[in-house]
Amino acid sequence: MRRNELPTPCYLISIPALEKNLRILKGVMDRTGCRILLAQKAFSMYALYPLLGRYLSGTAASGLFEAKLGWQEMGKENHIYSPAYREEEFDEILSYCGHIVFNSFEQIEKYRERVLDAGKSIGIRINPQCSTQEGHAIYDPCAPGSRLGVTRERFVPELLEGVEGIHFHTLCEQDAEDLKTTLDAVEDKFGEFLYRMKWVNFGGGHHITRPGYNIRLLEECICKIREKYQVTVYLEPGEAVALNAGILLTRVLDTFSQDGNIAILDTSAACHMPDVLEMPYRPPLAGSKEEGEYPYTYRLAGPTCLAGDVIGTYSFDHPLAGGEYLEFEDMAIYTMVKNNTFNGMCLPAIAVEREDGSCEVIKTFGYEDFRMRL
Ligand SMILES: *Cc1c(COP(=O)(O)O)cnc(C)c1O
Repeated sequence: MRRNELPTPCYLISIPALEKNLRILKGVMDRTGCRILLAQKAFSMYALYPLLGRYLSGTAASGLFEAKLGWQEMGKENHIYSPAYREEEFDEILSYCGHIVFNSFEQIEKYRERVLDAGKSIGIRINPQCSTQEGHAIYDPCAPGSRLGVTRERFVPELLEGVEGIHFHTLCEQDAEDLKTTLDAVEDKFGEFLYRMKWVNFGGGHHITRPGYNIRLLEECICKIREKYQVTVYLEPGEAVALNAGILLTRVLDTFSQDGNIAILDTSAACHMPDVLEMPYRPPLAGSKEEGEYPYTYRLAGPTCLAGDVIGTYSFDHPLAGGEYLEFEDMAIYTMVKNNTFNGMCLPAIAVEREDGSCEVIKTFGYEDFRMRL
């Protein structure tokens, strides 16, 4: 099957693009001795976990379900961090995960014995209170009032018994300079405790596979921490693993002119690319330019009844026609994991594209997928 034979809407993941990212990440591991985990919350397309597992060290989970998925489908190192664990799930989590990261000393006190009895490794998430991102408070775990990670003020060295790892996650789509700034804050506030640790997890948000990312500086940061404190360094990027590795294929359902040209698509920002509205941002669209740069400008919008279900304004070198395919780019990450069926929208199919351009549909969805959740 080729691209233009796929059902729409459809997430189409490019195997060569994914492998290009994986080779970059593997290079960092090989040169520094660090270990890189897939943060499943960004990309949980488990059909590709066997491929990802050929390059990466394992998976990172945000809770029981992701932990189970990583364990079942990749079966390598499996780490978990959650702001708080549910009592009734904890034994099952312990059966899947080797590293359990806690968000408070209260949680450590509650679960320490069980983790140690199971022979698993305990980590604590810290908050270095070092904001390096502007504008996106909802993506900043160091923003005032954050519940994520223990600040130095609340850090209780006497309760570190059995704790082998320090975890921080403060970045979002950032370069290595911001990691360096963050590490300075981590060392400044928590350096004395790092000497007692076996591992340090730098979290995610490292935009390693973005062209121009300062990989050399990242590697210097990793090696410095590894050597100074004699620890294993972990990274758990989500975005960087599948950055620019997939598109959302959609078709035009209707076009008309009302206060400018409008094209209604068979995909919805609200249901299929929620970050477009949440961040918000205007996703790149193949073959299009900014408003007014080409002669035909359209507001591209979804078929739901939400007035704000608008993807963005784009221009084209030809008038759009019903049935025409459009390709939104960089749609592998934070899309299928965030889908919903608001308005009874169908979930997009999931497919892969290989080096030779052949495509294979992995999964399609229908009415039952909408119905069963209600
Ligand atoms: C979100 C998250 C990640 C992955 O972040 P990316 O920005 O996708 O790289 C890793 N670790 C934790 C704890 C997270 O919350």
